[in-house]
Amino acid sequence: GSRFQNIEQGPPIEVFQLNKLFTEDTFQNKVNLGVGAYRDENGKPWVLPVVRKMEKQMAEDATLLHEYLPVLGLESFSNASVSMLLGQDNPVIAEGRAFGVQTLSGTGSLRVGAELLNKHLKYTTFYYSSPTWENHHLVFVNSGFTQPRTYRYWDEKTRAIDFAGFVEDLSSAPENSVVILHACAHNPTGIDPTQEQWIKIADIMEERKLFPFFDSAYQGFASGDLDRDAWAVRYFVKRGFELVCAQSYAKNFGLYNERVGNLTIVLSDAKHVAPLKSQLTWIVRGMYSNPPAHGARVVANVLADGRLFDEWRDHIKFMSSRVIQMREALRAELIKLGTPGNWDHIVKQIGLFSYTGLTPRQSEHLVQQHHIYLLRSGRINICGLNPGNVAYVARAIDDAIS
Ligand code: PMP
Repeated sequence: GSRFQNIEQGPPIEVFQLNKLFTEDTFQNKVNLGVGAYRDENGKPWVLPVVRKMEKQMAEDATLLHEYLPVLGLESFSNASVSMLLGQDNPVIAEGRAFGVQTLSGTGSLRVGAELLNKHLKYTTFYYSSPTWENHHLVFVNSGFTQPRTYRYWDEKTRAIDFAGFVEDLSSAPENSVVILHACAHNPTGIDPTQEQWIKIADIMEERKLFPFFDSAYQGFASGDLDRDAWAVRYFVKRGFELVCAQSYAKNFGLYNERVGNLTIVLSDAKHVAPLKSQLTWIVRGMYSNPPAHGARVVANVLADGRLFDEWRDHIKFMSSRVIQMREALRAELIKLGTPGNWDHIVKQIGLFSYTGLTPRQSEHLVQQHHIYLLRSGRINICGLNPGNVAYVARAIDDAIS
């Protein structure tokens, strides 16, 4: 017998399972609206030209070695990430109250940040939006948090934010609860709070002494504008909150598998930076010892060079514009077909995803009858749409609903 014989099969991860089914499907006009990755107008993955250029340059650079990075990663990368998030003129940077730690993409950043809060501040309660990215719960529980709670966010009926519910749930949260907030382009709903709503959220969090943990997986990718997408984080910093923010370069740099991320930490006093860094060093040391260098070097080099930075900014404008165009195209096709319901939410939402309002049964119908792959929640990745398939997808949605 084996020691492992009693281990039972775990459940599949829905989004990766869906991807596998899509890959295995031999139907010619199959459409993948599942996994959250950018696709070009031909449905193909896109390596950003500025990334290719930098990689070529790096391949020729004999001074780049495969020595270990420091435990907290490449400092030029972390500093550039903090500046990108907070704005380079943010006073907290000059005051030495903000710093960054290179992490394994956004997920690794959430993991390190959550472990820090649990281990060293003894925080045990965390709040996430209902619905949220499906990994928040697991990452926080694995980091030691024992009290998962949700706050209302999506109103099924209006297909908009349930702000009254959101406010009510935060208002009853116990002191020192960690509240996960999507910095922009909320996943999966695509609906962000307005600036007035963010102000109100900050008011409540201040009053209730809650701790903001921002998750910034789409800076620049959402609106095409790095500053606009960082508004909420910068507002909280301006209000004087201490906070942490997980940043991912998966989407905005297209560096999904390179695992490039940063954890930005803002403190009320620079004197706490050194002890915190030393404790973070031990957290990372015991988890994966030190991060990989390649992707972080690519990002750091691009962000440090004015010309390349501009080139990258053009890329994110291009990607976000294509998403916006496809939102409009899908809505227009559904209106043309006279598909029952109001489809304005598709163009009001922002970022990669649309929470279509399709039911699990309708979503399954699309997968099984039309080879269009989407999550049971009705979330679709807008990038999976292109001029060649949007009419097909609209007809299938029409069929699923009518
Ligand atoms: N947070 C949110 C809200 C996300 O959508 C994602 C990407 N799917 C992540 C974090 C982290 O992704 P990654 O670890 O690939 O950077």
